[in-house]
Amino acid sequence: MPVSDFWRDIMSMNLSKEQIQKAQDAAVALLERHGVSNRVAFDVQKLAEAERFDVYDADFGSPKTFGAVWINDAEGAEGPEGGHREIFVSADLLSQKRRKVIAHELGHYALHSKKTSVGNDTCFEFNRIDKAVENLPPEEQTREAEADCFARALLMPSVLLKNAWIVYDRDHSNGSMTFIDYVSWAFDVTRDDAKKRWNECLTLSLA
Ligand SMILES: [Zn+2]
Repeated sequence: MPVSDFWRDIMSMNLSKEQIQKAQDAAVALLERHGVSNRVAFDVQKLAEAERFDVYDADFGSPKTFGAVWINDAEGAEGPEGGHREIFVSADLLSQKRRKVIAHELGHYALHSKKTSVGNDTCFEFNRIDKAVENLPPEEQTREAEADCFARALLMPSVLLKNAWIVYDRDHSNGSMTFIDYVSWAFDVTRDDAKKRWNECLTLSLA
């Protein structure tokens, strides 16, 4: 199966401008918290680890399952030291897809995990196995689209994308490489995500 088909089933719905903005704000907050908001093609696994996630390669036994996130960091929850935060990524994926899956799972953490307070601690809870499943309930479709939108904003911050446009226009626009090709190469993302992210930035810039 072509990798771009992985996400097509569940990612076809359009988010509102407000939903895109919310996902982007959460992505920017995470990047800024770890000082990587100005780095192109940063190490997203290191970012996840800095958020105390353990990231594992997994064999899901199905080409339609590409990632999972498992969070329950409340004290007393199951896990080696009580709570745990885990991301599983299909071991078959190449860099572009692998980064996307980790970023997508971080999107669930940032946008969808249930937060509870225990004393002075904020605890998070969320579990999801990400499969390309048709006919997800609308609420789940929205959640998946939001996590995807978050992932693109994390991997392609708008400021860096605007810089990329300037560099492309100056240095590369005379060749055969399109801007989307350039973004895909420079940011280590799929062409499909580069295109979607550009559209999302245009949506946000519209009054
Ligand atoms: Zn998901």
